[in-house]
Amino acid sequence: MKVIPIEFKNGKGYDIKISNPEAAVQDYLNALNRAVEEYDLVRLWDSRKKCLGCDKCCRERIPLTLADVSILAEHLLPREKAEKDKALAEVIRRYCRIFVYGDIVDIHLRLTENGACPFLNEEEGMCRIYPYRPLVCQTFICCPMTKKAEQLREAVVNRGEDDLVRWWMKYAYENSIAVWFDEGDNPQIDLEDFEFESDPFIFISGYSKVKIRDVVSPNLWKLLSDK
Ligand code: SF4
Ligand code: SF4
Repeated sequence: MKVIPIEFKNGKGYDIKISNPEAAVQDYLNALNRAVEEYDLVRLWDSRKKCLGCDKCCRERIPLTLADVSILAEHLLPREKAEKDKALAEVIRRYCRIFVYGDIVDIHLRLTENGACPFLNEEEGMCRIYPYRPLVCQTFICCPMTKKAEQLREAVVNRGEDDLVRWWMKYAYENSIAVWFDEGDNPQIDLEDFEFESDPFIFISGYSKVKIRDVVSPNLWKLLSDK
């Protein structure tokens, strides 16, 4: 898995190539984290180098994946390890906002009154959970990227979020409680809409077992893995 630096009109960005058919989402995250350190990628939202002290992308919608919630539960609620499902539900209750509009469900981090991520140290502009921050944070750098790099990010985030929604619905169903949400209009949610042929995000506590080829479309996989 390679992140390849490329000069765009507005500065240095990147492309992504995958040579290993078994490449996992964790390989993607490792490659991106390395690229952030090694290459002088331009920051289009803020002129500070290396993001230090900037918090502009910590005031946006931050969708979560099932693996993100599982990782947050391990770090934030370690005492509840024995009851993993309850810990996940507790993370969702404490830190997430759930919107349900018709058959659309969106689970994302609940922002503070100042419109900031709950894990942002606002005085220093630093992330308080940096080593285990969500996928959407780890994969965002405000630099240009190729279309396929952008599509890869979208596909992984969207699929991971769909699997979180499915987990949330199943949890409510299995525990005989009503699905809970913060804001909604005419909810028409059905577990069947979130059943998929493959199950790449099946209950795991990280990204090393989530294979990229199981998450992206065949067309995108071809583009990413073409020599
Ligand atoms: S990636 Fe986020 S933290 Fe870094 S410069 Fe861009 S907006 Fe700021
Ligand atoms: S988890 Fe950390 S990196 Fe992500 S939005 Fe919150 S403060 Fe920013």
